Amino acid sequence: MMQIMTITGKEMVLDEATLKGFRDSIRGVVLSQGDKGYEEARVVFNGMIDKRPALIVRCSGVADVIDAVNFAREHSLLVAVRGGGHSVAGSSTCDGGIMIDLKLMRGVLVDPAGRTARVEGGATLGDLDRETQAFGLATPAGIISQTGIAGLTLGGGFGWIRGKYGLSIDNLLSVGVITADGQFHRASETENTDLFWAVRGGGGNFGIVTTFEFRLHPVGPMLMFCGPMYPAEQASRILQSWRDFMESAPDDFTSQFVMFNIPPLPSFPSELHGKAVAIPAGVYSGPVEEGERFVKPLRALGTPLLDNSGPMPYTTIQSMFDALWPEGTLLCYFRSLYLDSFSDDVIETLVATFKGRPERGIMFVVHDLRGASSRVAADQTAFGDRGAPYMLELNSGWIDPRDSERNVAWTRERWADFKRFSSGGVYLNHAGFHEEGESQVRITFGPNYDRLREIKKKYDPTNLFRLNHNISPAE
Ligand SMILES: Cc1cc2nc3c(=O)[nH]c(=O)nc-3n(C[C@H](O)[C@H](O)[C@H](O)COP(=O)(O)OP(=O)(O)OC[C@H]3O[C@@H](n4cnc5c(N)ncnc54)[C@H](O)[C@@H]3O)c2cc1C
Repeated sequence: MMQIMTITGKEMVLDEATLKGFRDSIRGVVLSQGDKGYEEARVVFNGMIDKRPALIVRCSGVADVIDAVNFAREHSLLVAVRGGGHSVAGSSTCDGGIMIDLKLMRGVLVDPAGRTARVEGGATLGDLDRETQAFGLATPAGIISQTGIAGLTLGGGFGWIRGKYGLSIDNLLSVGVITADGQFHRASETENTDLFWAVRGGGGNFGIVTTFEFRLHPVGPMLMFCGPMYPAEQASRILQSWRDFMESAPDDFTSQFVMFNIPPLPSFPSELHGKAVAIPAGVYSGPVEEGERFVKPLRALGTPLLDNSGPMPYTTIQSMFDALWPEGTLLCYFRSLYLDSFSDDVIETLVATFKGRPERGIMFVVHDLRGASSRVAADQTAFGDRGAPYMLELNSGWIDPRDSERNVAWTRERWADFKRFSSGGVYLNHAGFHEEGESQVRITFGPNYDRLREIKKKYDPTNLFRLNHNISPAE
């Protein structure tokens, strides 16, 4: 017998025979509290999230996913779906329900001649880059190698080659999805086109994606990375210079301005540990020599405390920030906001806010959003409007649980203060703990929201997949 949570938040009992039948049908592993491996399996990226699903189903293939979805639907269970487990909001786990975990499904199959890759729903960015770079190819993803391809792509996918090749969703050719009725659907520009439109930004609302097929591009293997670290006291001037420099940047250069305290990691000189720095970071996707020439002015805006710029393998760039965000130990709260401009007023507010941060582990990131990703029409993908020129991220990470309340409250308040510089849209993969609920989702999707609700009604009428930036089915 097992107590398990239903979709309506009530507990119910599953009898032994039902449980045994389910366990026996699964080729992967089914874990419950007390089983060897359960404690390890329930850990997600954000150390603030400490939840205990009644069942964790580690699927080994599509058939397991189908059985798990059917089991969950037939018993009206609360369902969490886990890809890479990197959702800061903790959307890939739940208390008392069933976690459908794709962690064992990490296959990546590259077709070098056709320049495509088929990626299983539990693969990480590191898995994808490893396989594609063996052929000198890549597709846009994020900047931390442990992040899951699934959650990242379903929410959009911002990375270092975005300026040239767009968001991850802009390179998606097809998906294989198990919808709430347990059926497998292939969706692409020619099959189930409504579903294909919806998964490009609409998150995990429409079903469990077991395969993503991406278009690949020749990338690297060596690319120019730009990362001079200036003292944060000079941040206003450096931010202004970066903004002006980016006005004429080509698509080849994708840039994020980062402000943080150098962490006490062996990769940084110990005398710099704790120093607050302002970094006009970026990656040049074209020829290395061209990139070296192009980023020179950004490296000469003053005297950097440290300059890690240089040509390096794409896979090195794709994992160089991993150590800053260790899995399972750091307590995190991330917020994002699209900015309408990057005026001196915004810059001064940013610098003053950074100075007033209560915690060294708070990182500010400003993405310059020009380039290929900005030229996709709002109605072409569910993701919505690409018109904002900048995106701000306030990413807080700390160790001591006693600081949690203060750090979350501070980040939330400062984020709210920046809303005067924004039309209100956010990157839904960095939307705090989704505390604004449907209102934030509606603002972000804008005119796409009503269409998304109709598609949700078609593929998930009972909102089985609700632990995400949730879209309620149309009435
Ligand atoms: C340290 C860090 C760095 C990050 N860097 C970037 C970055 O550079 N660029 C960027 O764009 N984003 C970035 N993100 C945000 C990231 O894209 C999201 O957190 C994303 O949700 C992670 O995907 P995941 O599969 O690891 O997450 P999970 O926690 O597994 O899932 C996230 C959501 O997707 C759903 N989901 C997961 N797998 C599937 C599936 N197969 N089918 C259907 N639904 C599924 C889950 O139910 C959940 O709602 C970063 C996050 C962190 C914590």
